[in-house]
Amino acid sequence: MAIKRRNFLKSIGYSILGSSLLLPKKSTSSQKTEFNWKMVTSWPKNFPGLGVGAENLAKIINILSNNRIKIKVFGANELVPPLEVFDYVSSGGAEMGHSGAYYWKGKSQACQFFSSVPFGLNAQEMNAWLYYGDGLKLWEKLYMQFNLVPRPAGNTGVQMGGWFNKKINSPKDLQGLKMRIPGLGGEVLARAGGVPITLPGSEIFTALQTGAIDATEWVGPYNDRAFGLHKAAKYYYYPGWHEPGPTLECIINRDVYNKLPNDLKHIIDISCKAANIDMLADYTSKNNQALQYLISENIIIHEFPKKVMTFLRKLSMEVIDEIGQTDSITQEVYASYKKFQKEVIPWTELSEKSYINSRE
Ligand code: CA
Repeated sequence: MAIKRRNFLKSIGYSILGSSLLLPKKSTSSQKTEFNWKMVTSWPKNFPGLGVGAENLAKIINILSNNRIKIKVFGANELVPPLEVFDYVSSGGAEMGHSGAYYWKGKSQACQFFSSVPFGLNAQEMNAWLYYGDGLKLWEKLYMQFNLVPRPAGNTGVQMGGWFNKKINSPKDLQGLKMRIPGLGGEVLARAGGVPITLPGSEIFTALQTGAIDATEWVGPYNDRAFGLHKAAKYYYYPGWHEPGPTLECIINRDVYNKLPNDLKHIIDISCKAANIDMLADYTSKNNQALQYLISENIIIHEFPKKVMTFLRKLSMEVIDEIGQTDSITQEVYASYKKFQKEVIPWTELSEKSYINSRE
């Protein structure tokens, strides 16, 4: 049946893109390209999940625009370093970028609320806040100052807590712990007495293996296995309290976006939505497969003890409350995020959480 369906799709010019999207390979009446764009990204070229997600987005836009927009995707450092994506698109060096908003906290602390917040919203709740709460409107308001239009364009789902070379039995075990953990999670670890370290993904394995760091977080089984982290540390902890469902972003230069005809603006918006859901499905499927592999390799997988989680949650609330007061736009974003989280929790408790508990 599956083969028949595939042949049928092939015969009418459809191919499977990513894990779930069905799109025409080439449109039958391909139009002349009106816009030749560059997309700079913060990911190694074609990196599983993140880099592939950026490539998929470019393909979807090209197909849905009937070739009117053609996008060349650049991996990290091919055109600009990974953390210069924001400035480069803002200034018009490239028309588009793919990254994560928490990298831009130097621009405004408010950026962090559009990627992931420790003990904050999960992927499903983030999408609800962004699309049907005030999230995306506030994100647009924030990025307008930087001549950018933001769109959610991917999500990894809940990450793992990370790889440790010793057991974490109590908050005391975090004292002096040298851990690669960026962003707000790192600030929380520092408050817990640990030493947060920021390292690009490519340097994590060696740092962990040589003992330069005691622990690291990266993403989840799918990406962690790709870096071989299970060969460098013994204990794998969950859940990723620091990144409960990070949104990845597509940023578009605002002058470029505003000059587009309305149909192309809609095509970009809807393509970002498609990329957003596709990446989450990709991670959910591949994390599952990679987890089975890690279990078969006898990796010890532990849940953080409740007292460690309670301790980290308390510190997280303190850190976020302080950050949420830094400037007027951050206050506005934080107030909206906090209100949405407070309102969504009772529903998540009696829907998703209750259902998941009942499956055990
Ligand atoms: Ca991470």
